[in-house]
Amino acid sequence: MAEFGFDTRKIRAGYDPKDNNQSVLPPIYQTASYDFKSTEHAQNLFTYKEAGYLYTRVGNPTVTYFSERVKALDGAKNAVAVGSGMAAISYTLLNLAAKGGTILASPYLYGGTIDAFDRLFPELGVNIKLTDAVLDPAKLESELTDDVKAVYVESISNPNAYLLDIDAISEVAHKHGVPVVVDNTLATPYLYRPFEHGADIVVYSATKALTGHGNIIAGLILDNGDMSLYTKERYPQFYEPIVMLKGKSTADIFPDNFFIFRATLVYLNLLGAALSPQDAYLAIIGLETLSERVAKQSSNAAKIAEYLESSPAVEWVRHPSLASYKFKALADKNLPNGGGGVLSFGIKGTPEQEAAFLNNIKLFTYHVNLGDARSLIVDSPNTTHSELDEEELKLADIPANLIRISAGLEDADDLIADLEQAFKAAGLI
Ligand SMILES: *Cc1c(COP(=O)(O)O)cnc(C)c1O
Repeated sequence: MAEFGFDTRKIRAGYDPKDNNQSVLPPIYQTASYDFKSTEHAQNLFTYKEAGYLYTRVGNPTVTYFSERVKALDGAKNAVAVGSGMAAISYTLLNLAAKGGTILASPYLYGGTIDAFDRLFPELGVNIKLTDAVLDPAKLESELTDDVKAVYVESISNPNAYLLDIDAISEVAHKHGVPVVVDNTLATPYLYRPFEHGADIVVYSATKALTGHGNIIAGLILDNGDMSLYTKERYPQFYEPIVMLKGKSTADIFPDNFFIFRATLVYLNLLGAALSPQDAYLAIIGLETLSERVAKQSSNAAKIAEYLESSPAVEWVRHPSLASYKFKALADKNLPNGGGGVLSFGIKGTPEQEAAFLNNIKLFTYHVNLGDARSLIVDSPNTTHSELDEEELKLADIPANLIRISAGLEDADDLIADLEQAFKAAGLI
């Protein structure tokens, strides 16, 4: 499938009707378990001598069709789909650092990720350091000490649409033998493919624009197949015998795919956030319109950003389409297909006027998802990022008057008229 274009792959990759009684759509394998053909077959599956399915928590054909399709879109070598974006992030970082060590992380992140970094990971012995050095690779280099197990960033970040230079970050990280993990949720492979910019591991919340209808929770872990960064010295976990493998290590069994294999065997298997086959099916259907949806969301967001920048009710606007955008040169280089559906703006007036504005919005829905077919609006500092303390909010560049929009697929004129009437109702214009 690699020889086909992006849009052909998003419809066709990873599934062949010949494998399923000519069924044009992938069947939903609604089963918990799989019948062994013989004792020998069972033994071969359990010792990974033969590929096949054992139990849906660790693998299901419909779930595989989904991960294979995203793999083809991103140009990844290995992939596993899991039950949520948070599971994808947690399993990835535990797989790299649960033996102890530091994750150098961008401060421009999804609120749930920062929650996990503040509360969960330190309890599990993983030290997280949020650093704005991700904006300055020379400075980042000085923070890449021997105990660093990964650099963790979002390609386009939430809520400010910060765009990071993954090429530069990867170059510096690789010099020090450290892999770069990119949460590519907001960008989707339609706008940006991190492996083409040096990333080693990509994680997704497929809940968002990747599948696009706000009807499932799903996640993915993908890698570039280059296992050479995971040295025995820094990552002994991949080379140590595991009881479940009868004394073999994950690197012994799959020398070209031990990162995802271990994430599956240890974390997906034992912590258990599996993706259901029904949800994998919905995810595949969502992917079929990825380009069309994200292109429309990007153009709607650009029109809304332009309107907001001209509104007297607004202090500032952040979106890659604007000439005033902080990372304009990088956006021109790295986002040829558009700036994505997410933008933020600073509303003028009092907190009461901000509340009146939100309470008078009629067309946008006021809720915390992203990348939905419907346009969404939310006051991030009071909701999605309310757990951040003062210092984290400052580091993440989230002022108190920030409002986030995730543009959907409606008519841009209707969305702009809705904002205009709500500004009026709040007495801001
Ligand atoms: C929503 C989101 C997540 C978490 O994904 P879930 O599917 O909700 O678990 C992670 N990263 C980003 C950027 C997100 O927007």
